[in-house]
Amino acid sequence: MMPKKLIISDSAGVCFGVEKAVTTAEEVLNENSNKNVKSFGPLIHNPQVVDILQKKGLSVVDEIKKNERGTIIIRAHGIPNYQEKDLEESEINVIDMTCPIVKKLQFAVKYLSDNDYFVIIVGNNKHPEVIGAKSYAKNESVMVIKDKNELNVEQIPGNKIGIVAQTTIPKELFWDVVDIFKLVTNLNIKAIDTLCDDINNKQIESKEIAKDVDIMFVIGGKNSSNTKEIADICKNVNKNTYQIETFKEIKDLNMNLRNKVVGITAGASTPPWLIKQTIDGVLHGG
Ligand code: SF4
Repeated sequence: MMPKKLIISDSAGVCFGVEKAVTTAEEVLNENSNKNVKSFGPLIHNPQVVDILQKKGLSVVDEIKKNERGTIIIRAHGIPNYQEKDLEESEINVIDMTCPIVKKLQFAVKYLSDNDYFVIIVGNNKHPEVIGAKSYAKNESVMVIKDKNELNVEQIPGNKIGIVAQTTIPKELFWDVVDIFKLVTNLNIKAIDTLCDDINNKQIESKEIAKDVDIMFVIGGKNSSNTKEIADICKNVNKNTYQIETFKEIKDLNMNLRNKVVGITAGASTPPWLIKQTIDGVLHGG
C-alpha cells in the first residue's frame, strides 16, 4: 500500500489558540483532584482530543446552573457575552481560553455596533464562534451571511455598514462582500479583517498540495469548521479529497495507494499524534 510519494503540509495541525486551550485544560485537570472541571461546549472541535480530556475528568456542559461550583473553561471559540455575564455572577472559577483572534472579532463587532454601524458578519450563522460574536452587537443591528450570494444590499438599514468575518472562512468570501458594498454610493463602510492567518496559510498551502497529488487527505473533526473549509478548498482542485478523523477511515475506504502521490494536511484542532498515526498508517498500512 506504500505510496510513491507523500507530501505533508508544513502548516498542518494545531494552532496556538487550540494548543493553549488544550494544555491549559490538561494542567487544570492535573491540579484538580476532585475533577470538578467543565468546559463550556466542546473545548475544541476534535472528538478524539475531547474524548481524552473527558476520560481525564473534563465534563462538557452547555449551561451553568445557579450556585455551580468548581472550574469552567471557556472554549477557544468563545461564548456569547450574556453567558459570560452569567458566569461572572456565579460562584464558579472561570478560565477563559477564548482565542485572542476570536476576541478580536468579538471586540470588532462591539466597536462597530457601539459606533452605530450595522454589522455584517460573513460566516456560518450556526457556528459557536459566530453566535458568540453576534451577541456583542446591539439588538437588531447585526446580520450573518454565508457569502456574497446571501447579500441583499437593499435590506440593510442605515448608511453606516461594518463588515467582519468568522475567523476561519476563506479570505475571498470576506473581501467579495466588502467589494459589493464599495460599489454602492453614499455608504459609510468600515471593514475590519478578523481572519486568522494560521488558517489562511493552511488553506493556501493545502490547495497547492492538492493540485499536485493523486489523493488528498484532510485530517480533522467532522464538526470542525476550519477542517471542512480546507477539505472543500482541496476538493475544488482535486476531487480525490477525503476528510477523515483517523487512519481507520482511510483503511475502511480500502484504497490502493501503491504508486500514488498522496497529500496530507490537517485542520487547526488536529493534534500531532493523530497526524503521525495517519502518516504511519499510510506509509506502513497501519
Ligand atoms: S484557528 Fe485561528 S482563530 Fe481559531 S483558535 Fe486557532 S488561532 Fe484562534
